[in-house]
Amino acid sequence: MAVPELTMALSSIKGALELIKLISESRKDSIIKEKTIDLRNTIMDIQMSFTELYEKYSALLSENDKLKKEIKQIHQWEVTKSHYDLMKSVFGTFVYAPNKSYPNIQPLHYLCTNCYDNGKKSILQVVKTPSSTCYIYECPSCNMKINFDPFPK
Ligand SMILES: [Zn+2]
Repeated sequence: MAVPELTMALSSIKGALELIKLISESRKDSIIKEKTIDLRNTIMDIQMSFTELYEKYSALLSENDKLKKEIKQIHQWEVTKSHYDLMKSVFGTFVYAPNKSYPNIQPLHYLCTNCYDNGKKSILQVVKTPSSTCYIYECPSCNMKINFDPFPK
């Protein structure tokens, strides 16, 4: 892939070297003065090209870091997702529950299906217990409420 700023800078460097050669071979002060001004302008062009290159390179490095973080988050989410299965309650509602691969570190909990589909782990919280077999859970992230029986018979 051609980088216009780099091509221009390399061309300017070649021109600067030719001017230096002309200056060193010249015996007339007027030519030396004229070519010195040309050389100064050429060096300024090189400086501008490298400044633009530096800015683009910095932007690319920043974008690269951002993409690496996104890839890492996606990978972490894929690992997290692998520890949950979709579960249907007797009410026909769904949650994600830990499966057998889940590391037994946290207490039993359920994830919001809405947030799960958006790549986010959000643990549902009990907000009401109208009966001993039906709990109303709420997602603290998206505020979705769901009737769910955590202990189906
Ligand atoms: Zn949610």
